[in-house]
Amino acid sequence: MATQTGGGTNLRIDSDRLWSTIVETAAIGGTPKGGICRLALSDEDRRVRDWFAAAVRDAGLELAVDAMGSMFAIRPGRDPARAPIAMGSHLDTQPTGGKFDGVLGVLAGLEVMRTLNAAGIETEAPLMLINWTNEEGARFAPGMVASGVYSGEVDMDFAMARTDRDGIAFGDALDAIGYRGSEPVGRRRFAAMVELHIEQGPILEADGLDIGIVTAGKGSVWADGRVTGRECHAGSTPMSLRHDALCAFAAFALAAEAVAREHGPDGVATIGVAEAFPASRNTVPGEVRFTLEYRHPDLGHLDAMDAAIAAAARRIEGERGVAIDIEKIWRKDPVAFDAGVSAAIGRAAAELGLGSRPMTSGAGHDAFFAATVAPTAMIFVPCKDGISHNEAESSTQAECAAGADVLLRTVLALAG
Ligand SMILES: [Zn+2]
Repeated sequence: MATQTGGGTNLRIDSDRLWSTIVETAAIGGTPKGGICRLALSDEDRRVRDWFAAAVRDAGLELAVDAMGSMFAIRPGRDPARAPIAMGSHLDTQPTGGKFDGVLGVLAGLEVMRTLNAAGIETEAPLMLINWTNEEGARFAPGMVASGVYSGEVDMDFAMARTDRDGIAFGDALDAIGYRGSEPVGRRRFAAMVELHIEQGPILEADGLDIGIVTAGKGSVWADGRVTGRECHAGSTPMSLRHDALCAFAAFALAAEAVAREHGPDGVATIGVAEAFPASRNTVPGEVRFTLEYRHPDLGHLDAMDAAIAAAARRIEGERGVAIDIEKIWRKDPVAFDAGVSAAIGRAAAELGLGSRPMTSGAGHDAFFAATVAPTAMIFVPCKDGISHNEAESSTQAECAAGADVLLRTVLALAG
């Protein structure tokens, strides 16, 4: 363990200890291909929460759980009047997720707390480590609802009423795992927040850099869509008389792709789920239900994509005699992170001799909502081939440790 004085200039996190927590928690919901399936509010989520609760108590931290199930671990500071400096991310994963997305930000925050404990350092401001509920939105769409409710931008009743594919409501699932906390959402305020996360893209690796200083995040729109045509016999109905919902959907999917390309390279649009009904080989599909999401870091472009996708739906309706309904369930405007927190991250990376660059986050993060209530920024570390939301997701122990060291230094600078 490194020793330090006053400014903490030589202090480093314990790389092996951090790595061992990544390996240990990866077994909770671990998949045969080396990834994690730990959907929000599942039994695996409960188990990793239990693990986290025990770990923070072992570290001597106070633990609070709010009514959305988000977990807050607090390390007191010398000045109890100061609002805490927050770290954190999420422990839930995609159904075929990796070991690092979200997990690294929480476990690195735990490692920061353990490092400070071992070195006997008391900060001026308290520190707070957060595990946000349901960042991924894989089981309950949309994602980032807990930080969204925390920030006041998302209505809590809306979040509680979201259902999974089996019709189970978010609130019932939260009760089922025993993590509906007693604290009102938003009670635990913080003075600043730093979220460490893997990049989930290829830029740092391509540039040979260790640290991304995230200065902005893409805005996004999530929607549920439905194409309604007309079911009919697949043998006896001439093509000219059909209102094939699946073919109309295919035209719409390509139109959405074209809109994103027109707003490239930052514009993206994705249809991740599509189901045709009645799903019979010899019946022309009468209905397709699908998900749609699109993103852009510039508000004007995001609005233009919005309008262009709606126009494409109207055009295809006219051409094919179908109805295309797009219900927007989510919109988050592009985010600009705090210049002061970004600068602190940059200084920390420079002091550690790490290569860094400013960048934009294409993925959404809880930090996007945190940024609406307090100065916030993010630290990115590389991940192999930019692959994420995939069991093959991979960062090295050294990459994770470098990110955690930057996190440590940044929160020390902010907390005093
Ligand atoms: Zn994440």
